[in-house]
Amino acid sequence: MSVTTQAVVVGAGPAGSAAALVLARAGFEVILLERGPYPGSKNVYGGVVYGRILDELIPQWWENAPIQRWITRRSTMVLTDSQALSVDFRTQHWKRQPFNGATAYRSEFDPWLAHQAEKDGAKLLCSTTAVGLLKENGKVVGVRTDRPNGDLYAKLVVACDGVNSLLAKEAGLYEDLDESNFTLGVKEVWHLGKKEIDSRFGLSTNEGVDIEILGGTSPIAGGGFIYTNLDTLAIGAVLRLTDLAASRKRPEEIVAKLRSHPAIAPWFIGSHLVEYSAHLIPEGGYHSMPRLVADGLLVAGDAAGMCLATGVWLEGINYAIGSGAIAGKVAAAALARGDYSSSMLSKYESELHHSFVMKNHKRLRHLPHLVLSERLQSRYPQVLCNVVDNMFTVRDPLPKPRLSQLVRAELKKAGVRGTEVLADLLSILRDLQ
Ligand SMILES: Cc1cc2nc3c(=O)[nH]c(=O)nc-3n(C[C@H](O)[C@H](O)[C@H](O)COP(=O)(O)OP(=O)(O)OC[C@H]3O[C@@H](n4cnc5c(N)ncnc54)[C@H](O)[C@@H]3O)c2cc1C
Repeated sequence: MSVTTQAVVVGAGPAGSAAALVLARAGFEVILLERGPYPGSKNVYGGVVYGRILDELIPQWWENAPIQRWITRRSTMVLTDSQALSVDFRTQHWKRQPFNGATAYRSEFDPWLAHQAEKDGAKLLCSTTAVGLLKENGKVVGVRTDRPNGDLYAKLVVACDGVNSLLAKEAGLYEDLDESNFTLGVKEVWHLGKKEIDSRFGLSTNEGVDIEILGGTSPIAGGGFIYTNLDTLAIGAVLRLTDLAASRKRPEEIVAKLRSHPAIAPWFIGSHLVEYSAHLIPEGGYHSMPRLVADGLLVAGDAAGMCLATGVWLEGINYAIGSGAIAGKVAAAALARGDYSSSMLSKYESELHHSFVMKNHKRLRHLPHLVLSERLQSRYPQVLCNVVDNMFTVRDPLPKPRLSQLVRAELKKAGVRGTEVLADLLSILRDLQ
């Protein structure tokens, strides 16, 4: 027998749980569908949650969120096969409330967030996959599920089904899906023990480190990350999908190579592998987003390509929560008015444009393209490391080389033209200014 409710949210990831929480808190009946046996059971990410977006939704969230470590050290590492250049920032400010970022396991964070929605009245239905949209007269009126007689009718559907969203595609919201806008993120988790992690990374109590890596994934253009959990280390590579396919390499080979880099390997001595996972990341940013609403349907989080991946920032959880919460708010307003048309729901787009979600995506719209380029992910790391290598190599009795000469020579060796560097710098300055 089919079921009728006021709103269905598909996907109990951060976007879906935030949308369900806001809808339930506004007093509406909402079913939160999750295909996994529990929220977070199948979800993959690197490991850092930027929690400020929760301040309003769940005041004092840090008191009961399942946090591993609070990030107090953030490094950016530029790697070639044999070199490493790091900028290492440490602060005690991020160790205090309201905190900046924290490592957390998705298998703990997602159930916690979904539970907040349940506490406000959302009904969580796990082990249930939405397999398509129910439509009447072209309008979305619910979802088909994989349960026997599992049609779920609703006034509104909020699609938070993650990257490569089945529902957004079926609704025709994506004009085209360009594979060059996606990367494959592969991740390993290694158990090392708290004491060893603290001593190897210079951390105390529940301090954590976030290391973002540019390069180090040759022959595939890409980057990586290392994050400290309480007693495990997460290491991963983010690989351009098109390059990975062309290289015929296995992604786990690339992570293994990254892990055995001389600048990284010592951190992992004596550890053992406890988890391996892989997942797509929608890195295309602003220009790759679909239309966000149709009659009876809103799309949020990775389903709408809202992960911010701009080299120094890889933030998706906060953008998923931010967009999910706004989708929930607009859905609640639509339910209150009894108007589920796309013109009513377009308020979601305008509210998003006034929020950090679209403000950041719009301002940083040129960076994803640059970050995904082979120049940034493999040639510039090589140029940068070679320049520093030459600068610090003492060649007495020869005089020290001029920096401008070094840079020109290395750019030439890497086959990068001065005009390309200028264009890339302008692109970065235009977006970051
Ligand atoms: C390797 C990697 C590293 C990353 N590192 C970070 C990081 O450190 N920090 C950060 O902020 N972001 C990071 N991200 C990005 C972040 O994981 C995503 O942006 C974020 O998870 C998006 O949340 P979401 O709720 O939109 O989608 P998801 O988290 O993907 O959740 C979607 C949910 O929907 C469910 N679902 C899907 N289809 C259906 C269906 N048909 N029916 C029912 N349920 C369905 C899924 O099981 C899942 O629970 C990383 C991503 C990857 C892959």
